[in-house]
Amino acid sequence: MEFNDIAILLTENCNARCKMCCDSRGLVKGKTLSIDELDIILHNIALCDEIKVIGITGGEPMLYPELIKHITDYDYRRKVSVTIKTNGFWGYDRSKAENFIKENRDKISFISLSYDGFHKEFIPVDSIKNIIEISAQYGINTDVVGCFLNDGIQPGDILNELGESGYYTKFCYQPVIQTGAAKLFDEGKLVKLLDTEKIEIRCIGVVNPDILINPYLKVFPCCSQVIENTILEFGNLSENTLSDIINRIKHNKIMFTLFTEGFRPFINFMKAREIPYPQDLASPCELCAFLFENDWFLKELSENGFYQNI
Ligand code: SF4
Ligand code: SF4
Repeated sequence: MEFNDIAILLTENCNARCKMCCDSRGLVKGKTLSIDELDIILHNIALCDEIKVIGITGGEPMLYPELIKHITDYDYRRKVSVTIKTNGFWGYDRSKAENFIKENRDKISFISLSYDGFHKEFIPVDSIKNIIEISAQYGINTDVVGCFLNDGIQPGDILNELGESGYYTKFCYQPVIQTGAAKLFDEGKLVKLLDTEKIEIRCIGVVNPDILINPYLKVFPCCSQVIENTILEFGNLSENTLSDIINRIKHNKIMFTLFTEGFRPFINFMKAREIPYPQDLASPCELCAFLFENDWFLKELSENGFYQNI
């Protein structure tokens, strides 16, 4: 298994306060990477040949254009593509947005825009439309990703709002995942698509394996919204190299089970011991959030000899 993608969580700060945010990032003044910390990350990426794509995420990364420029201008000594995940607030001024996109058309390969009923409270749809249309003009692909409850604004409403600009982008929608601020939603409002009794629950990270580095230089094995709220942290770039951490992830027994067999062995383990677990899920990642919120499950596995040397 190769980790070709890495996401840099540039900042925890955000200018929105979406009610479904995985960490209610907008509610706090959080940590942003310094240039020195960013250099540690970029130096490690330059040394790690398997990484081909850097995804810049947050919080809202476009609050820090100088850090984005530092990433796009860095000399990796090979071809590395850069993508950005943003709430699109910067698209309100069409000429400024055009300047940014034009300047970066050879440096940024993809822009992923978050827009749904939650983002709509803070970001005008015209900002999103402007970015989609200008990106299409300069050959940068985009998508719009939204999260939904079973009441209120629905995916079709957002497509209607996008109007003609919807033809130039990809629209991806998913149920709200119950993590971070979204834990406050009434259970009845959540769309639960996966029944653990009826279908095989697989790790979605295997489709496109990606590593996450957060502003504290902590490294996680995927970019799921839940992952920072788990103990699945495999090292810190202030102490370890990225290559060593990636090797640790590849050779970790828990991750190996998740990547190769999915959750079935863990579900069977819990069933055999009558350990209650969530039956209906919005995403497989909710099972990771349940199993690895702290070390209770590792202790169960260890006490029952699931792995010999866990
Ligand atoms: S979901 Fe995204 S845009 Fe909304 S508060 Fe969280 S980080 Fe900001
Ligand atoms: S299932 Fe777990 S390991 Fe896989 S992508 Fe989701 S949180 Fe990450």
